[in-house]
Amino acid sequence: MKIPSFSCKQGCHECCGLVPFTTAERDRVAASRPMEQWEPFVDGSWVPAAALASFKCPFVGEAGCSIYEHRPMVCRLFGAVDHPMMKCPMGSAPEKLLTEAQSRELLRRAA
Ligand code: SF4
Ligand code: SF4
Repeated sequence: MKIPSFSCKQGCHECCGLVPFTTAERDRVAASRPMEQWEPFVDGSWVPAAALASFKCPFVGEAGCSIYEHRPMVCRLFGAVDHPMMKCPMGSAPEKLLTEAQSRELLRRAA
């Protein structure tokens, strides 16, 4: 199953806030960012401690996501799912959205 792509508003990081990582996703990022502190979050997920304090993801860099290759599935899905919580606040979206069931399957595989 492919996540439909779409263009973001240039320079926007509006959705890069308190984003949950699965344990596997956290471990992949921790391998290259050993200084990053993590806190347990809901349903066995993890969040960067800095994001808990600021509600901003600490991986936002000058040129966008600084861990792009290892960003969590929820970041990959944001804006591309037919669900109110996953809707881009800037109005960006692909032509065809994934269903909630499809997104849940992709999140399950990422766990
Ligand atoms: S999905 Fe929307 S809010 Fe997130 S970076 Fe793209 S344009 Fe900004
Ligand atoms: S991991 Fe990357 S894409 Fe996801 S919220 Fe953080 S900066 Fe944004």
